Amino acid sequence: MERSISNRFYFDYNATSPLSDRVKDFVHSGDSLFGNPASLHQTGKKSKRAIIEVSDYLFAYFNLDKVLYRLIFHSGATEGINTFFKGVALKHFEKKEKATFFFSTVDHACVYQHKEFLSLLGHDVFFFDVNQEGQFEREVLVAKILEAQKKSAKVYMNYTYMNNETGVIWPLEWASEIKKQTEVLVHVDAVQIVGKMADWQNLLNSLDAYTFSAHKFGALKGVGFTFVKDRVEFMPLIHGGSQQNSLRSGTENALGVYSIKLALSEFTDRYKKEESKKISEFLKREMLNFLAEKAELVASEAPFRNLNTFFFVFRGQKAETLSMKCDMMGIEVSTGSACSSGIIKENRILMSMGYSAEDSRAALRFSFGPFVTMDEAQIYIEKIKSVFR
Ligand code: PLP
Repeated sequence: MERSISNRFYFDYNATSPLSDRVKDFVHSGDSLFGNPASLHQTGKKSKRAIIEVSDYLFAYFNLDKVLYRLIFHSGATEGINTFFKGVALKHFEKKEKATFFFSTVDHACVYQHKEFLSLLGHDVFFFDVNQEGQFEREVLVAKILEAQKKSAKVYMNYTYMNNETGVIWPLEWASEIKKQTEVLVHVDAVQIVGKMADWQNLLNSLDAYTFSAHKFGALKGVGFTFVKDRVEFMPLIHGGSQQNSLRSGTENALGVYSIKLALSEFTDRYKKEESKKISEFLKREMLNFLAEKAELVASEAPFRNLNTFFFVFRGQKAETLSMKCDMMGIEVSTGSACSSGIIKENRILMSMGYSAEDSRAALRFSFGPFVTMDEAQIYIEKIKSVFR
């Protein structure tokens, strides 16, 4: 429910989500799974059992084969993605090998910002471009990967399944096809998919790694998980007490991990695919009709878009002024990248899609939750109209 207790309208689900009801109920029940999963007493074993239960649940939930992947719990996608890319890079460094990494210009900062570190270790990093609809040219990318393969021990690619800013989806089948043609090792940033597309559970066993962040789908903050194929060699980033088979040391956050299962099960039980599609179409149509004169919907013609994200460029306006106005009138939206003084910086994603610097400072993102009803959607539209009128 976007309308929070303070009676504000929360349209920033891509930034984070409110806690799911099942997580709240569990926390209120007083069972905090506080035992250290490594302890041998009953309380510790209870936490350990909870983690194993969630691990089994996640493999089944996402249709991934337990024989092929290891599952690592961590503090969130930023850590998971750093572990994957830095981990493989360090492994090659140890073997005195050069690897090549392909990132897109619209990847999240926790992918994009790896360039310096990877270059420091002697690896190559390439960014592939997208057009104004957030699409990349597959044949060009394949050719570049094949070229890179001649000069490096291994080639890796990050593949953002759903873009957090634009809502553009790149089907997993495209990544699988690229892999088939090139044997590139593919890490999928799957952070945004849960509850925001028609079918988010069927991951492909052909790809090499998937990273998720729990707070994006109603579980507790500070928790995430990554599936990594057994045969992908990487050096762990966090050393210590050898938890999680030494892949990520540190006492596991049993309550956080358990909240993943609670939140995901709630999503599956409550989510109504057809209704969500209908409501998404309604929101898009109404917002487009109303804002058409005032703003342009980013990547509106992309072949695959998610159901909840509407990123508008309000040409000639300033995002900080608009967002301040929204905030004053009770609507919470995202402006992309604000610096500490609250001034909006150029939005890297929009600029790489061909928008001008000025346009990129004039964008607002509305991202809705997964359980909006038609009645609520109508109220939201009226509220948005009242603000932008
Ligand atoms: N990847 C994507 C696509 C994201 O949207 C985010 C967060 O917004 C992240 C990675 C990083 O997730 P976290 O901040 O939970 O570590």
